[in-house]
Amino acid sequence: MILEPTNGEHLYESTMARFDRAAELLDIDRGLYKIIRYPMREVTVYLPVAMDNGSIEVFTGYRVQHSIARGPAKGGIRFAPDVNLDEVRALAAWMTMKCAVVNIPFGGAKGGVKCDPQHLSEKEVEKITRRYTAEILEILGPEKDVPAPDMNTNEKHMAWIMDTYSMHARQTVTAVVTGKPASLGGSRGRREATGRGVMIMCQQAAKWMNFDLAKTRVVVQGFGNVGSVSATLLHRLGCKIVGVSDIQGGIYNENGLDIPAVLQHIQSKRFLKGFPGAQEVDNKALLELPCDILIPAALEDQITATNASKIHARVIVEGANGPTSVEAEKILDEKGAVVIPDILANAGGVTVSYFEWVQDRMGYFWREDVVNERLEDVLVPSFHEVIDYSTRFKVNLRTAAYMLGIQRVVDTIKTRGIYA
Ligand code: NAD
Repeated sequence: MILEPTNGEHLYESTMARFDRAAELLDIDRGLYKIIRYPMREVTVYLPVAMDNGSIEVFTGYRVQHSIARGPAKGGIRFAPDVNLDEVRALAAWMTMKCAVVNIPFGGAKGGVKCDPQHLSEKEVEKITRRYTAEILEILGPEKDVPAPDMNTNEKHMAWIMDTYSMHARQTVTAVVTGKPASLGGSRGRREATGRGVMIMCQQAAKWMNFDLAKTRVVVQGFGNVGSVSATLLHRLGCKIVGVSDIQGGIYNENGLDIPAVLQHIQSKRFLKGFPGAQEVDNKALLELPCDILIPAALEDQITATNASKIHARVIVEGANGPTSVEAEKILDEKGAVVIPDILANAGGVTVSYFEWVQDRMGYFWREDVVNERLEDVLVPSFHEVIDYSTRFKVNLRTAAYMLGIQRVVDTIKTRGIYA
């Protein structure tokens, strides 16, 4: 049976089709795999909100828990005008795989509210967040489902969710969400975690492929949380960051950009445009610049059949979710480029979210160097496990990562057995 798409785009089915191909290569029970093909639970809620102008609007929200086989469901909440159930379903399944690949004890979930935050006041956004939390309260909880920020949500939203949940529980429950402000039980190192994970992937790729990371030229698309931290950390390791970009376009200097100066420029001017000592390039040209490592860290579908053959990088580290299309991946494979897939490359974020949940439950908070060291302890073995699957089954790293994730989830379901 195929789940009904809710917007005609079949994102969930196309995601599952990719998992199916990976599963076929594994010697696993087809019946057990069938369980992964379906989300465990989907909730749709309608949220009445009194708007600033006195009118009442009703917003639609979703929470999909794809799997809790390996632990509480885990995944972000996004606020966007085009959020739909099909998309949330696909992203929830992705989270199950991501958590399994890095072997942290979580399942997968995702949530979203269909709204346009650009046209809402802060008060209205707060009301939507709190009502959404109240409507899905029964399925949330540190042992059940732990949300985090995603598109257009941040630590402020997590604070509101934590507070709403806690008011109903009649006690402060910090571990119900991750990505919180430090003052409310957030973890040190969480802000930098995804970019730090990207850097760790570059280090491991350099060792595995036998090149000197300090001698590489790097291009980073997107200079937000993930992109700017990746660029900063790789710059500190001696890499030449030759190009970076944001939504308005990119900057390029073949001799390497002064990344601390770029960060200062962004602080005062908000955008990269106008940075002195660099040539301006558009986002399309940026991806095709001569470089050794390319880090797409902006949004999905950036490397496509149209530009894949023009990409110079030997290594592509997917900081963003889904930046490479299926067709582009075939072209990159044929060229011999190595793609470190999103579910491994950007898993630093969810790994430190796991650490945040652990610290909240212990009520004891780690130093930043301890967080960073433990992040490495999780990501380095995961990288090598994916490489092992890739070598053993002669598949690219994305298929290998899917295979590793599926194997882990199926093994857990098999050991637990099927209830009733
Ligand atoms: P962000 O909003 O902080 O930064 C996004 C950056 O991309 C900004 O510099 C923005 O200007 C730029 N951008 C937007 N549209 C662009 C375009 N059309 N072309 C070029 N640049 C564009 O977001 P983020 O948290 O850094 O997330 C980036 C990606 O990484 C997303 O795909 C996100 O899902 C993924 N990701 C983030 C985390 C995390 O912890 N933040 C974890 C896992 C995955």
